[in-house]
Amino acid sequence: MTASRIAIIGGGYAGMAAAVTLAAAGARVCVFEGAKTLGGRARAVELDGRLLDNGQHILIGAYRTLLGLMQQVGVAEATALLRLPLTLQQRVPRGEARGDFRMVAPDWPAPLHSLGALLGAQGLAWREKFSLARLLLQAQLGGFRLKQDGTVLDWLRAGGQSPALIERFWQPLTVAALNTPLESASAQVLLTVLRDSLLGARRDGDLLIPRIDFTALFPQPAADWLAQRDGEVRCSTPVRALAREEAGWRINDGAERFAAVVLAVSPQRASALLPEQAALAPLRATLSAFRYQPIQTVYLQYAETVRLDLPMQGVAGGLCQWVFDRGRIHGTPGLLAVVLSARGAYSDWDAATLAGRVHAELQQFFALDQAPRWHRVIHEKRATFACTPGLPRPGNASGVAGLWLAGDYTASADGNGDYPATLEAAARSGVAAAQGVLRETGML
Ligand SMILES: Cc1cc2nc3c(=O)[nH]c(=O)nc-3n(C[C@H](O)[C@H](O)[C@H](O)COP(=O)(O)OP(=O)(O)OC[C@H]3O[C@@H](n4cnc5c(N)ncnc54)[C@H](O)[C@@H]3O)c2cc1C
Repeated sequence: MTASRIAIIGGGYAGMAAAVTLAAAGARVCVFEGAKTLGGRARAVELDGRLLDNGQHILIGAYRTLLGLMQQVGVAEATALLRLPLTLQQRVPRGEARGDFRMVAPDWPAPLHSLGALLGAQGLAWREKFSLARLLLQAQLGGFRLKQDGTVLDWLRAGGQSPALIERFWQPLTVAALNTPLESASAQVLLTVLRDSLLGARRDGDLLIPRIDFTALFPQPAADWLAQRDGEVRCSTPVRALAREEAGWRINDGAERFAAVVLAVSPQRASALLPEQAALAPLRATLSAFRYQPIQTVYLQYAETVRLDLPMQGVAGGLCQWVFDRGRIHGTPGLLAVVLSARGAYSDWDAATLAGRVHAELQQFFALDQAPRWHRVIHEKRATFACTPGLPRPGNASGVAGLWLAGDYTASADGNGDYPATLEAAARSGVAAAQGVLRETGML
């Protein structure tokens, strides 16, 4: 029997983006997902009967590929996402003299909206606003390209950014976008993010906060859409072996042979699944060189009357980085989700200690006069790859015919600048891998 279906290994955002792109072009697909729920690092989790997310995520307006795919599989943005104009707010402890930092993009055409946001920012001195505007302008004049990549911290220091500006603006922005501390984060990737968000078209910088869980946001509707197009999605089906045979690709010890495979798992898992072939040795070495950074999400359930003034806001200079009011977003009143990105001293604390300290800090920042009823800490130790300067990233082609890579870690396929590990990077990579398969099989 001739192999005709395409196998996708991994039902995260990259794998489901690949599957939808292939099926839309008329290919028959079969997705193998090891977990019982689709979505990978952005999935719904049920803990003690409560539906939470594996980690609190946000999207931005510049996530055009993902937003397009969501629309393609029937997800209506208006019901699935809360769209807010670009707003960066950093709270300081109540009573502190320097006051909160707040930057909101006005409803003006680009690039005036960014200028308006900068000049109208609260909590920055005028000299800091000018120094920030000057560095952003320099970046724009340089086409958002550095001659040589270096760390964000070195780039900021060379650009004359004061410690206060770094603490209030650059630090939260970089850690949120790249999940890597400033002293080791790639300045080039940050510039690409700035180009497409803060300095992009007005709606590109919008914050899009999902109102539904991350499995429901794209992976599950994608699976339902595939089912109507002769596609198959097998959850709870980990792939342990992948081999190329004359009749096609064999997965585990299954009888079917596949015409091509899209390996849509994280770098360390991809490396473990690559068949033993000399042609794949350079790829295996590149995948093994990736390092990772954690993210912890602390959920705290307070009384239903607890409500913050914004759905999402930053907290300056302490342990907590971003606080989400899930009551305002998901209709679960009193539930706060606190995000701690990248490695810190807290990465080694146990869940009870971390939740206790986060609660103590929230009391300082917000008028909370009660203890949480329950808390849950979700610690993703390998949340994203460490986005360091000059990181070698593989393309979608593995170097072996019929085997393609997809995932947030692959290099940008359009040469337009690499993204950090994000949902959009995963979606773009899935689409690019699918296009590679379609070209190779003569379907494109
Ligand atoms: C806590 C947290 C917060 C984040 N916040 C944001 C954010 O705010 N905004 C943003 O854009 N991004 C954010 N990210 C990053 C984003 O979640 C990832 O970049 C994206 O989900 C990666 O998708 P992927 O498909 O490349 O990989 P994955 O999500 O890792 O998908 C890989 C899939 O493959 C499956 N798999 C692995 N091995 C096998 C196997 N052998 N057989 C079958 N299946 C297998 C896995 O179960 C998984 O479902 C965050 C990540 C975390 C963890």
